[in-house]
Amino acid sequence: MTRIVAVLVAALLGWQERPRPNLIIILADDLGYADVGFNGCKDIPTPHIDSIARNGMRFASGYVSHPFCSPTRAGLLAGRYQQRFGHENNPKYDPNDAKLGLPAGEITIAQVLREAGYVTGAVGKWHLGAAPGLHPNARGFDDYFGLIGGGHQYMPVPRGAAEYTIPIQRNREPVEEREYLTDALGREAEAFVERHAAKPFFLYLAFNAPHTPLQATEKYLARFAGIADPKRRSYAAMVSAMDDAVGRLLEALRARKLEEKTLVFFLSDNGGPIEPNASSNGPLRGKKGQLYEGGIHVPFAAQWRGTLPEGGVFEAQVCSIDLFATCAAASGAKVPRDRRMDGVDLLPFVLGRKEGVPHDRLFWRTGGGQSFAVRQGDFKLVRSGDGQPQLFDLRADPGELRDLASERPGIAMELSAALAAWNAELVPPLFENPRPAPAPSRKPPR
Ligand code: CA
Repeated sequence: MTRIVAVLVAALLGWQERPRPNLIIILADDLGYADVGFNGCKDIPTPHIDSIARNGMRFASGYVSHPFCSPTRAGLLAGRYQQRFGHENNPKYDPNDAKLGLPAGEITIAQVLREAGYVTGAVGKWHLGAAPGLHPNARGFDDYFGLIGGGHQYMPVPRGAAEYTIPIQRNREPVEEREYLTDALGREAEAFVERHAAKPFFLYLAFNAPHTPLQATEKYLARFAGIADPKRRSYAAMVSAMDDAVGRLLEALRARKLEEKTLVFFLSDNGGPIEPNASSNGPLRGKKGQLYEGGIHVPFAAQWRGTLPEGGVFEAQVCSIDLFATCAAASGAKVPRDRRMDGVDLLPFVLGRKEGVPHDRLFWRTGGGQSFAVRQGDFKLVRSGDGQPQLFDLRADPGELRDLASERPGIAMELSAALAAWNAELVPPLFENPRPAPAPSRKPPR
């Protein structure tokens, strides 16, 4: 009996003393599925982003919970389907409206990690509300540096009042940023690691690259003199700048011997929009805004040296909403119990400690019901607009070219019913998408 107690106490102490990893989520913006080396990109080298997949693993069926910017971020930080709380559209930029953004009742991963003793930082694009109560500093982040809206000019510009020209902020104070924005975000990410290397930290590094406007400095453009299409060349330069910034962050971890103490995720917030920024989703059908694979199936990788298998590939479907549960479990932080959390802790699955798959089904809905999708195993049902549901077998047909709905009516009906049951749990959107702002007319400075 004494021996059993001793073992239990030792186990408990061991658990308490187990070092908690630092946690980093790197989010790209409008990066195409096929625009990273680890997904086969040929014309844009991304050695640093690729090193995350090489030193850790690639998620072959990595999804986001929405095909565009703000809702994906809401679901990621709240750890659940954002349609459960009405965050189904992009909020208009309005510092005077506290209803336009991540609803105040949602608990973010930063909040629970902070309560668990982590230092929390956000660097980059916020896009979850511009009102003071929706600011990153009010949503669990000790430190914030970046752009509060949905995008920004990359070159230093005179201060404006429009979303893309408002001053960059450090915490709640406007700052005069003189660097190319992607370089500045890399600098701030590195500085955050330097400041907090001795403590457990959580860093949410959300690039606005390579979202429009297409602007890059000569340093990066010069790397792509061989790309004839000027749009693709600018896009390549922006992706390359982001890769350099990721490299700077990874080097900061390496230099401080934190690689084995840090879990790093990399993913894009949605698929490539193709025409606006010359991105590529490769063999996947569709683009940003759509529920075909090109809108929601994104580059997705993670590293944790010494813990995750090097060069591993995880085949089963995972989603951006899983990062909350995964980070919470790795850190011992408490997951809210008063609400339905949809994300799953991925580590037991990727480490082979748990049988089965993280999700039997993943669901999507846009526009309060304009389009739907559900994936179960290899099958995916997509319903866009008022059209008939389409059924695809993603293993045989990853490009979603062959509609099997009439050949496999049983599966189509089963998935339609599952979708209807999920849809019944959701609420209508709390706000509508703003009308698209006029495209910035100024030519990118060189
Ligand atoms: Ca986006």
